[in-house]
Amino acid sequence: MVSNICQNCGGLMEWTGDRRKMRCPFCMTEFLVEERETDAFDKANVIDPLLFRSEWDINKLREKRNGKDFITEFMIGVNEVCTAEKEKEILFKILSKSDNGDMATETIRPELFRTATQRAASVLEPGETPLVYQNSGIFSKGKEGSVITDRRTITFDTKEVKFELHKDIRSLQLDNSGDIPSIRVNEQFAVRFSMIGTGYKGTGAAAALICLYAFAQDPDLKQIRLV
Ligand SMILES: [Zn+2]
Repeated sequence: MVSNICQNCGGLMEWTGDRRKMRCPFCMTEFLVEERETDAFDKANVIDPLLFRSEWDINKLREKRNGKDFITEFMIGVNEVCTAEKEKEILFKILSKSDNGDMATETIRPELFRTATQRAASVLEPGETPLVYQNSGIFSKGKEGSVITDRRTITFDTKEVKFELHKDIRSLQLDNSGDIPSIRVNEQFAVRFSMIGTGYKGTGAAAALICLYAFAQDPDLKQIRLV
């Protein structure tokens, strides 16, 4: 395990928003986690075992149709990108190359984005920023789908709005039971976010983004289970 004792003053170090860095709250010394000797793992094929507990061999996703881009982008996000802020930019870049008419951001299909975020608005807090929306089906047109914000993942239909706060995330399902990779957040699998037409990189990047927000927003979170 990582030593979380500050080598400068002996204080207990804390995770920063960047998963590669710990910081001592007493003397502000920063410690690069990448320098850990025990941290050597195959980043292209193994998700950081300190941060994730895989309950199955998620590399099996690579053998599935559409699964390779999905899992590869997720691994790059959590193993190498490491911050939610950078992962967000990567997700937006992927989405900007997508021709998926059921997906929207503030700048891509802004009309759809506005309709959808109005539906989700009842659970948003002041200052919370909706980032991306995905229709649940081709006829949804902003009435049924999911929104990822900088604080939570929301799913709604015409009747109800459900959400999981990213700081409360303990498990993530990387689902490829069909041919369309999707993610489900937490045990209840209450919310689902699936992105078609992006080469499935978008779904992987969205999964990584949610995990990076979870670690940044709950400093006590040690591990996320991948189920
Ligand atoms: Zn210190």
